[in-house]
Amino acid sequence: MPDAAAIAVVGIAGLLVGSFLNVVAYRVPRGESVVRPRSRCPSCGHEIRVYDNVPIVSWLALRGRCRDCGAPVPARYPLVEAVTGAAFAAVAAVRGIEPELALYLPFAALMVVVAAIDLEHRIVPNRLLAPAAVWALAAWAAVDPGFLPEALAAGAGAFGFLLVAALAYPAGMGMGDVKLAGAMGLYLGLSVVPALLVAFLAGSVVGLAIVAREGRDARKKGVPFAPFLALGGLVGALAGPELIELYSDRFL
Ligand SMILES: [Zn+2]
Repeated sequence: MPDAAAIAVVGIAGLLVGSFLNVVAYRVPRGESVVRPRSRCPSCGHEIRVYDNVPIVSWLALRGRCRDCGAPVPARYPLVEAVTGAAFAAVAAVRGIEPELALYLPFAALMVVVAAIDLEHRIVPNRLLAPAAVWALAAWAAVDPGFLPEALAAGAGAFGFLLVAALAYPAGMGMGDVKLAGAMGLYLGLSVVPALLVAFLAGSVVGLAIVAREGRDARKKGVPFAPFLALGGLVGALAGPELIELYSDRFL
């Protein structure tokens, strides 16, 4: 278990990354650059001041409103920052301050931003998945080349499994989800199996709850699936090997 100070530093880095992920989630679906210009209020166009850009704190201090025009700032912004910070800290606590964080931290960031984008836009952008897949392979090659065969097999397996699911149930899943599952396999290796299990379990429970509340018509509209894949991905990154061990102890 790494010491608390190191975990806190990684967690704070996660808050700052989360702040950037808000920019990515807003701009990538709109085809805009994530590097420039500086962030502006979408309502009044005023540039966001540096001291109004502190993760979570600024949103609370301004009570969720733009300082210039008072337009509401969605709670999604501090939420993305908080979840990214918590995910970074949890990954560091569980996996240790190790070179593998070069895989697990970008993976956690990818899960958060993909969930945020899919919830709003119903897409999983290739502009994020392609570099994420390349990074997974390059980072494993540098950190642990012996893991590459498992990563590639898991990526291909997860891609194929979701492809079959998407063909069988086109209303619930798209090619974005299929490619996302493939990318998850590249990062997680065999841990993508419990990750997909959690995703399908959570998706089924929430899907049934929505049908129960809103009737069968709700089912036809479809529920975005990437947030469930993201949830499963985080569980896989935090506890994948332990879940696999638990299963093989009980049943194999
Ligand atoms: Zn404004």
